[in-house]
Amino acid sequence: MAAHQIVLIPGDGIGPEVTAVVCRVLAAAGAPVEWVERYAGLAAMEKQNEVLPADTLDAIEHHGVALKGPCTTPIGEGFSSVNVQLRKRLNLYAAVRPVRNLAGVPARFENVDLVVIRENTEGLYSGVENQVTDDVVMSMKVVTQTACRRIAHWAFRYATQRQRRKVTVFHKANIMKVTDGLFLRCAREVHRREYPNIEYQEVIIDAGCMKLVQDPTQFDVLLLQNLYGDVVSDLCAGLVGGLGVVPGANIGEQQAVFEAVHGSAPDIAGQGVANPLALLMSAVMMLNYLHETRGDQTCAAASERIKQAYSGALADRQMTRDLGGSLNTAEFTEAIIQRL
Ligand code: NAD
Repeated sequence: MAAHQIVLIPGDGIGPEVTAVVCRVLAAAGAPVEWVERYAGLAAMEKQNEVLPADTLDAIEHHGVALKGPCTTPIGEGFSSVNVQLRKRLNLYAAVRPVRNLAGVPARFENVDLVVIRENTEGLYSGVENQVTDDVVMSMKVVTQTACRRIAHWAFRYATQRQRRKVTVFHKANIMKVTDGLFLRCAREVHRREYPNIEYQEVIIDAGCMKLVQDPTQFDVLLLQNLYGDVVSDLCAGLVGGLGVVPGANIGEQQAVFEAVHGSAPDIAGQGVANPLALLMSAVMMLNYLHETRGDQTCAAASERIKQAYSGALADRQMTRDLGGSLNTAEFTEAIIQRL
């Protein structure tokens, strides 16, 4: 089988540092991937004078799969998030973030094995905000039955295929009776009609957050609306060692974009200390996706080799500073490549 052409978006801040590592590791592991580099975020603004150029979207639509570094979004002003725009434009409606302990990585809990599934296209991320008067501003929470059903289906199908035991919806339908109420109703219906094999649970999100930090092992698959999913993903990362160990995928019907949960970390950008592991784990998810959707066994083999290599490094306490180790980005990369 010919190499898979994959769109590579280096991103901003630590993005170019960690994407470069991932390219090196995949090459060393013999992953059959040919990168098609495109830009988004501040990097695209500098090169092409727009944050999400059409040729980037076209390339993802054409090639079907992308690996993306984090993109910076200005706070409280400026352009709207490139990450959100990309997910909406390509209808990448399911964000999937597996959160697990890694042997050797110090964490607050053991035996954590959660998957956060976040609706990725609407809710409070509709981007519809208005200045009503000098004193009053508003933000619209847009929720559609179509998107609620679609993500519920996706979550239960995923849980069934991966032999997970339970799906828990975190919600605030006691207050937002109409919007969160619709999300809940759709999840209930999809469960009752099609997936009675999976245990189903509803938890009000404030109590859910408390339960997560008391004992995350009581949860399995979490299904959340957009903003809740964003916040809870980082909370869950904190349970297993931090943002350096949580990968992610944004999946639609036709395309998939793989990226870490973390952002562009401007506080450490350019210092050579960023942890590339979360993006590397996202690339492992990408190789598994290529194996599953295109039947390419060499992708599965490369994915397994990379997993063994980084697991070996972590087990020998070779890790970056964010995880309590002492290695910089280059040293950690070498530790992985030596094991391949
Ligand atoms: P962040 O995830 O970039 O950083 C939070 C903290 O975690 C920082 O202290 C950072 O140094 C640390 N950190 C994050 N990734 C790390 C890594 N790989 N190795 C070591 N330490 C790491 O979140 P933030 O500071 O809130 O956001 C920074 C920018 O990133 C913002 O512009 C935000 O909009 C953007 N962002 C982008 C994405 C994305 O592209 N998907 C996601 C989240 C945030």
